[in-house]
Amino acid sequence: MTPEHSTRQKRVHESFIPELVYFEPASLDYPKGQKIMAWVKAMDIPYLMTSSHNRILNFPGETESEQYKIAKRTLVVGVRKTLKFDTSKPSAEYAIPIATGCMGHCHYCYLQTTLGAKPYIRVYVNMDDILQAAQGYIDERIPEITRFEAACTSDPVGLEPISGSLKELITFMADQEYGRLRFVTKFHYVDSLLDIKHNGHTRIRFSVNAKYVIKHFEPATSPFEERIAAAAKIAGAGYPLGFIIAPIIWHEGWQKGYAELLDSLAKALPKNASSNLTFELIQHRFTKTAKNVIEKRYPRTKLEMDIEKRKYKWGRWGQGKYVYPDEQAEALRMFISERIFEHFEDAKIEYFT
Ligand code: SF4
Repeated sequence: MTPEHSTRQKRVHESFIPELVYFEPASLDYPKGQKIMAWVKAMDIPYLMTSSHNRILNFPGETESEQYKIAKRTLVVGVRKTLKFDTSKPSAEYAIPIATGCMGHCHYCYLQTTLGAKPYIRVYVNMDDILQAAQGYIDERIPEITRFEAACTSDPVGLEPISGSLKELITFMADQEYGRLRFVTKFHYVDSLLDIKHNGHTRIRFSVNAKYVIKHFEPATSPFEERIAAAAKIAGAGYPLGFIIAPIIWHEGWQKGYAELLDSLAKALPKNASSNLTFELIQHRFTKTAKNVIEKRYPRTKLEMDIEKRKYKWGRWGQGKYVYPDEQAEALRMFISERIFEHFEDAKIEYFT
């Protein structure tokens, strides 16, 4: 291993440490804000005060790519004001907002377009307000179960070592007869979640993929082996477990890549993991706007975004997306579904989209 390689490995294994932190003054009225401030001081991380977590602009850097990298290493600690939750179909009824932004550098990530000019990371300290709002949404729908997705605008496991917010959410949901929580992650920092009360009300899903995809398109996330080891721990702690295979990418050797993926999952998980295991399958898609943004931020990406090779799928709201032509999409769906059932006969495939 070269020294450079060893440093890179080390960086990947460490949990996220921002280069600069902004605090909204009001965030320091909350225990979570105070705790993060104490950590920032102990770690000797530079910090500044800001009037609003929505107004951090002008990141240094000559190119958009440089500015983007710096923004993604900037953390903002704020108070969540909007307590109206967005909907989050098809996997849940609502998105529960505990954080926005992510330290990962997945080339295909949809946050690049949805977060626009604000790719920096925000964590919210007023958990009581957020939980109270969730309670309201649950009560409104009784006797229906209400599901909340905590990873719509962030990767909350990546931020858990700093915020501890998932721990609070999971404990809250454990006591909710009609409430359920779910989130998806590409990180492995789950140790603090293993011995807390969850009552099976939280489903934790790990985002996994063929080696080629992880290697070329998912920098600054946890290595595959660590994600799988974390999944095994989560299964051992009795949580409902799931995997999201996304984005499914057509590449040379894709059959081998996805067959190996399912093989490694089967080897790493406990024998009884098949019952109550879910899979969600999402083929790669992009919009024209996303393609432009990605090409600026990751100019050397190998991500194939040739609209000539894709099928245009009209969007319900606004611009449509480019997906694989039906024949390719069907081949991917069939092949991966077969591999799933070969190894996990009782698993459920929730959807392919
Ligand atoms: S880990 Fe998830 S949220 Fe973070 S950059 Fe990658 S795809 Fe986006």
